[in-house]
Amino acid sequence: MRLVMIGSGYVGLVSGACFADFGHSVVCVDKVEDKVESLRKGLIPIFEPGLDALVASNAKAGRLSFSTDLAAAVRDADAVFIAVGTPSRRGDGHADLSYVYAAAREIARAVTGFTVIVTKSTVPVGTGDEVERIMREENPQADIEVVSNPEFLREGAAISDFKRPDRVVIGTVEPRAIEVMKDVYRPLSLNEAPLMFCERRTSELIKYAGNAFLAMKITFINEIADLCERVGADVQKVAKGIGLDKRIGDKFLHAGPGYGGSCFPKDTLALAKTAQDHDSPMRLVEATVAINDNRKRAMARKVIAAGGGDVRGKKVAVLGLTFKPNTDDMRESPSIAIIQALQDNGAVISAYDPEGMEAAKSVIDGVVYATSPYDAADGADVLVLVTEWDAFRALDFARLKTLMNAPLLVDLRNVYPPQEVMRHGFEYHSVGRKSGG
Ligand code: NAD
Repeated sequence: MRLVMIGSGYVGLVSGACFADFGHSVVCVDKVEDKVESLRKGLIPIFEPGLDALVASNAKAGRLSFSTDLAAAVRDADAVFIAVGTPSRRGDGHADLSYVYAAAREIARAVTGFTVIVTKSTVPVGTGDEVERIMREENPQADIEVVSNPEFLREGAAISDFKRPDRVVIGTVEPRAIEVMKDVYRPLSLNEAPLMFCERRTSELIKYAGNAFLAMKITFINEIADLCERVGADVQKVAKGIGLDKRIGDKFLHAGPGYGGSCFPKDTLALAKTAQDHDSPMRLVEATVAINDNRKRAMARKVIAAGGGDVRGKKVAVLGLTFKPNTDDMRESPSIAIIQALQDNGAVISAYDPEGMEAAKSVIDGVVYATSPYDAADGADVLVLVTEWDAFRALDFARLKTLMNAPLLVDLRNVYPPQEVMRHGFEYHSVGRKSGG
């Protein structure tokens, strides 16, 4: 099949490369010329494990190409996927749909023959109706069906998530569109991926309901962690104890510094706004958003308390800047607010991240970027583990102790068993567990 991805970011590029790997012929379009130029040279603008090899092999096989020319790419396509960004709109938190609508107009002018237009971007319920209205207004002759097909991949595990999904949700009841979408995803059927067809609005809402539920689950265990600290309980064991109950499940029960990233913060906010607009407020989601916002600065206060109540003039070394490991994505990373709050309190920050430092430089000012965890820790009064990269899971504490001003670790991801850190003479603070040293 001939497929086109509009937008070659995390979702468009990964989906496009995976579709090509399934044997489809795919053009990934982006309006940023530098990005397309790099991709043509085999340079991948994002860090995603395995993506460079997947792109290289499919480009070499002639199944995957890159273009800035949307009209030419769309002309003969069977299906066009809109995978552009839907960030929070400044001011009110609604999803900014201007990129989606602009893409829809451009696509409408270019399509020939029957074409399925697939919204892969995360868009509020009802957006498909508006995309369809815009396209029919722009080109009344166009033979199109507009389908919702939200993406559930996770950065850092995006390729395996795409190729072995828990489910593929497809929002359309139109028989012609159903046939095309079945063909698009047919290669997955070997892995028995459950294709779930439903109405377009239902599909759009599934994506938001899913993300909001996961965000709520994280926020729930974070609040349990706070209570554990007050009452002397261990959140890791509480999480295990409840997670073994199959009705609850053990995923997304890791206490930490609050969720971040390019999806949960904006999607929870957008869902809360949609619900308010429809006079059906979702107080659980609103509370989740507010609690998570507060949590990031609260983590900075935790670091300050661990450092004796005052970090003015002290050096705080931060390990991990991206919102989670195995990505270079800095969008809404908790590290941003934590570092800002520490700087507000007079701390001097050194930081190290295996992949995120280039992206971090454009969002975090006044930080000394180090070349390794040990370089960051050199002369530090406090070491703070913010993102649980593998590279931080077996730190050489003996070496750190000789480098640091004071042996103090604040582990916001509960990476270490407390005894293991403390036996090296470190004072150790984590989340939802007893501190000691
Ligand atoms: P991104 O910012 O990485 O990529 C979007 C790309 O679209 C950019 O490269 C931009 O230049 C391009 N673009 C914008 N308008 C265009 C146009 N008119 N023509 C061509 N290209 C255009 O965004 P992303 O992280 O890939 O997210 C895309 C969508 O997928 C969002 O709605 C997001 O919520 C959703 N989503 C993201 C993830 C994730 O993990 N990143 C997971 C699931 C769903």
